[in-house]
Amino acid sequence: FWAWKAINILFPFAVVLGRLFNIPRDRIEQSFIEVSNNLVLQHKVKVPANRIMILTPHCIQLDTCVHKITRNVENCRQCGRCSVGAMLGLAHKYGCHFAVATGGTLARQMVKQARPKAIVAVACERDLTSGIQDVFPLPVLGVLNERPFGPCFNTRVDIDKLEAAILAFMEDDEEETKHAEGTKSKLS
Ligand code: SF4
Repeated sequence: FWAWKAINILFPFAVVLGRLFNIPRDRIEQSFIEVSNNLVLQHKVKVPANRIMILTPHCIQLDTCVHKITRNVENCRQCGRCSVGAMLGLAHKYGCHFAVATGGTLARQMVKQARPKAIVAVACERDLTSGIQDVFPLPVLGVLNERPFGPCFNTRVDIDKLEAAILAFMEDDEEETKHAEGTKSKLS
């Protein structure tokens, strides 16, 4: 717990040091997420599937999609043109909460409403880092999004990595434990 707390407290100092040594902020944030993920995995937090929340920013939705998924993700038609459909499929498969937020304030509201015991967050380095710190000590596994078209536009997620993170939080059964063992390598 103290190591986990320490990295949250020390992160701003790491950023300042990084500036002094010309280390890009992205690189420091990636390290923060990796260390945070490893500490969370070491805790072996196990919660019922319905207390796990998958949270991601709106840039994951295809820009031309007309369905209002930020109001209700169930409006997604799972057409396969962006990652939202597959993420919704995983939420249905395991019975987790799934929310797509247009910003930090809405994300915080959604977390307050769903009252999860663990969060699997999909976002860029900056949003993951601030999100993990915002909800601390709530355990978060961060999955970095993919940005084939640049930042904040039609982003994607590796669905295998997302599923591994969900399984790492789920209360044990034989199959889930097997999956969870591969999580550490998949998330790094
Ligand atoms: S998968 Fe869902 S959100 Fe993505 S384009 Fe299709 S309907 Fe829209």
